[in-house]
This record gives sequence, C-alpha cells and structure tokens, in this order.
Amino acid sequence: EPRNVRVELGARSYDILIGGGLVARAGGEIAARLPGVRAAIVTDRNVGGHHAGALAQSLEAAGIASTTIVVEPGERSKGFATLQEVVDGVLAARLERGDVVVALGGGVVGDLAGFVAGIVRRGMRFVQIPTSLLAQVDSSVGGKTGINTAHGKNLVGVFQQPALVLADTGVLDTLPEREFRAGYAEVAKYGLIDRPDFFAWLEENWRDVFAGGAARTHAIAESCRAKAEMVARDEFETGDRALLNLGHTFGHALEAATSYDSARLVHGEGVSIGMALAHRFSARLNLASPDDAVRVERHLRAVGLPVSVDEIPGELPGAERMLDYIAQDKKVSRGALTFILTRGIGQSFVARNVPASEVLSFLKEV
Ligand code: NAD
Ligand code: ZN
Repeated sequence: EPRNVRVELGARSYDILIGGGLVARAGGEIAARLPGVRAAIVTDRNVGGHHAGALAQSLEAAGIASTTIVVEPGERSKGFATLQEVVDGVLAARLERGDVVVALGGGVVGDLAGFVAGIVRRGMRFVQIPTSLLAQVDSSVGGKTGINTAHGKNLVGVFQQPALVLADTGVLDTLPEREFRAGYAEVAKYGLIDRPDFFAWLEENWRDVFAGGAARTHAIAESCRAKAEMVARDEFETGDRALLNLGHTFGHALEAATSYDSARLVHGEGVSIGMALAHRFSARLNLASPDDAVRVERHLRAVGLPVSVDEIPGELPGAERMLDYIAQDKKVSRGALTFILTRGIGQSFVARNVPASEVLSFLKEV
C-alpha cells in the first residue's frame, strides 16, 4: 500500500500517494476521485518513452480515454511556444473544463502542464505524476505552476493546486543518476530547514534512499509532509513558505552566473552549494556553530553533491557580479538583503536585514 500525505487546503485538499507501481494504478486512483473524466497526458520525450504507454493503459483500463502530448525534454519547453502547442493539443482533443490534465514528468512538465490546466477553459482539473526526485519532493506539491520568459524564470503562471499527486518511486529507476542526486539536495533541505532528526536519519540512511525500496519511500514521504505543512500554512507564499528557499538565494545566483547551462550546473547542485554557503555564512555571522557547516558539507559531499563554487566547471564572475545576481533574485532595500540563515541544523529562519556589505565580503572569501 502506498503512503498517503494529505495537503490540507480546505475544499481544495488533496492526497499525495507515494510508493511503487503507482503509474500502473493511476487509472483507478484518478477514476475514484474524478469520476467520468477524460484526460490529456502531458509528458516529455525522455519520460514518455519509458512510462507514457503504461499510464495510458492504466487510464484506459479504468475507463478514462486519453490523448498524449509529448514535448521536448529540458527547461526550454517551459516557454510560450511549447505552452501554445500544449494548449492547442488539449483543445484539439476537445477536452472540457471538468476533464483532467495529467502531468507525467519532472518539474518542467509539471509546471507547464499545471499552467495549461490553470488557463484552458479558465481552469481544468489537474493531476501530477512527478517522475524526477525533485518533482516528487518539491515541484509537484504546492500548486505553483508557470513558464519562463526572456525577463527571467517562472515569471508567468498561476497557483493551480492538483487534485491528486502520484509519486511512483519505481519510475525513479530510469532517472539519470545526476538528476537523482540533484533532487536529493531538496530532500536534505527539509531536514536542514526544521527537521534535524530527519537530517540525522539521512546521514545514516542515504545509501538506502539512493538504492530504492522502503528508505526511498520514507525520504520522499517525509519531504512531501514537510512541504505540505508549509504550503498549508502559507498557500500563496506571503510568509513562512519562504523557508523553502534555503540555499536558493546563492543557488539561483550560481544558476544565473552559469547561464542556466545544465552541463555546468543543474538546479539541485546550485541548491547544494547554496545550502553549504548559507551554513558557512551563518557561522561567519556568529549565528551558528562552524561545526554545523562542516557537518552539512560532509553529508552533501558524501552523496556526491558539490558544496563549493570551485566545483563548478568553467569561469565564474567575481564577488561584485555575484552580488548583482543575488540582488536581482531578492529584493534589495537600503542595502539589506533577505536570506534564509540558520542557528544550526534544522533551525533555519528568514533573515530580512542582511547587509549587502557582509554578503560581499563573504563572497570574496568563498
Ligand atoms: P526536468 O523536468 O527537466 O527533468 C530533468 C530531466 O530528467 C529531464 O531531462 C527529464 O526528461 C528527465 N526525467 C525526468 N524523469 C525521468 C524519469 N523517470 N526517467 C528518465 N528521465 C527522466 O527537471 P526537474 O529537475 O524535474 O525540475 C526542474 C523544474 O522544476 C524547473 O523548471 C524549476 O523551475 C521547477 N520547479 C518548480 C517548483 C514549483 O513549486 N512549481 C519547485 C521547484 C522547481
Ligand atoms: Zn529548489
């Protein structure tokens, strides 16, 4: 039986089921919650090749007629051109408002398909079947959807909560190792935000999480529970949910500084370096013990994640330019920046008045 984590949002509450074989069971789970629907499956070529056939079969067996729309893999598909293709695909299949868009893929497909579900016919129903570790523990939960523009990432979108999330732990077996590791950075993040026991558990059990089975299911379920709690407390990201950005201020700056070139850095790797830096920076500000920063680095390094900017191939801009990237990512008011800092493992907090000068001198050292 799969684990069930419930996201409590009143009338829009939904289940996240986590376990093996859920793609094969998807038809039954969807039909039980959304009787009588037809479906558009949105997937990318990588994921579709492995798993779309099994999903379509499962839907058909449950009496759900479906059409499959395949996009190119990669962040570039999160843009206006692909949005239009998918919207046209859904309309060409003559789906109605009560029908369902099913996202089968990583965060790119989830964000794109969720946005489509949010805008076609002023809002269709939506089911997430996340297939990357990052999508299972992060992007499929919480209802943020959207696309990128020339002005930056994720600037056009809507909040569109899914009716159901099916995190099939088995599909992760076809995920490239590097992508799995990158997603793991977000798993570790939940421990570092406010779950020190979970972080300690990961230090002991990460090998089993990578191997699959019960430990993997546990790690994903704990991560979903952590995210679900934060989303329930702050659906539209006006307060507490900001803690989810631990490691992301430095991480986003590094992604921008490497031109979002996935050959150099993928998101989770940037987050890994960012979390290591956030802990070192907190120690430097005398908020946390340097031992905690060492412990965080030791764990991330053990799983094979980068923890230092030196590990990024190619040249990086200097400290001043990096500060510009950070200032673009976060609102700067009177020379002060907002950062997620920490008092120790699992004791993160939102720091709203970090002097830009402190950040700059830290960046000159790392
Ligand atoms: P992704 O969707 O590009 O997937 C990574 C790669 O793995 C792709 O090449 C994909 O085809 C492949 N893949 C995925 N699942 C696979 C599987 N089971 N087998 C084989 N290959 C598989 O990237 P991602 O890391 O999953 O997601 C990143 C995106 O998520 C970014 O666009 C980011 O902005 C977004 N995101 C959104 C939220 C949110 O709250 N909505 C949160 C975090 C990240
Ligand atoms: Zn992230």
